Amino acid sequence: MIQRSIRHKRRRFPVVFLIVGFSLIAVLVVLSTQSKWELGSDPGRPGHAQAVGSGGVNPSPQITDANLAGGEAGGSGAVQTADGKNDSTGPKPQLPSQTNVPPKSWIPSVSLDRPTAAIVQYQAKPGTKLVAITFDDGPDNRYTPAILDILKAYKVKATFFTVGTQIKKYPAVMKRIAAEGHSIGNHTYNHSDLTKKDMNGIKNQIKWTDTLIQRSNGFVPRLVRAPYGAVSPMLKAIIKYNNRELVGWTVDTDDWAGKSVAAMRANVNKNTHPGGIILMHSFGSKHIASTVNLLPLVIQDLRKKGYTFVTVDELLAAKNHGGKLTAKTATATA
Ligand SMILES: [Zn+2]
Repeated sequence: MIQRSIRHKRRRFPVVFLIVGFSLIAVLVVLSTQSKWELGSDPGRPGHAQAVGSGGVNPSPQITDANLAGGEAGGSGAVQTADGKNDSTGPKPQLPSQTNVPPKSWIPSVSLDRPTAAIVQYQAKPGTKLVAITFDDGPDNRYTPAILDILKAYKVKATFFTVGTQIKKYPAVMKRIAAEGHSIGNHTYNHSDLTKKDMNGIKNQIKWTDTLIQRSNGFVPRLVRAPYGAVSPMLKAIIKYNNRELVGWTVDTDDWAGKSVAAMRANVNKNTHPGGIILMHSFGSKHIASTVNLLPLVIQDLRKKGYTFVTVDELLAAKNHGGKLTAKTATATA
């Protein structure tokens, strides 16, 4: 009996070793697969270091540096930030709630391209009275060319805040605007109220029009104007973190609303001051014919008062230089 029992035990030992051995191998394989996935997925993402450096672990559900930055720090910025902290202490088992159910703020954000429009150098004699005329909602093939003809005749440079759906229709007019020395800004894709959109919605409106301007004109614009002048802290933050300039106005001609040329002319004369930005339209209403009639009168009136017409880039360049509109030399650093 004793011998049998010992023999029996001897037979069992190798089986136990085999089971333990296989289990160990299985555990090692699983562990190595997990650590490979974790190591490969985090540092490999672009902008990882920047996201950690600029934002840290920020639980804010809406506005974070990493989410807003776009470009290098864009993509799934918040995810990188959170994962980055875990990485520093090596791969660790995580609770299902951390790995499988990311909070809303971790939804990958749309990335904006960096602006590539030329940096504007601007020189003006001290005491020069600067004013910028701007035209929104174009281009079109009727009023925009007529406005360009007038600007050319008077040797005035202006700024056009263009809408994506119109750029798609009239790329040749877009090319003409830039070829004749005017500035081009982004006025969203389809003239949306950006205060009613979430972060990705705002970025898409800007990005789609960026792409169209890039295609027609070969650069990503720096200037952005919000439709209806409707701005929000979210929009301002996106503009700031993507090196753009949000451009408003100081004189509203209400040209789209059907006011008389005389009334609009009086309004411009009364409310234009040095450093001002005048809002007009080159598309978007049946009343834009009045804009075409108003424009020569505005140019003549303001010239008589000693104003120099500049693009918005030039105006910003002057403002950035000491905050006065009489800068000798200034550079837009937006
Ligand atoms: Zn508009």
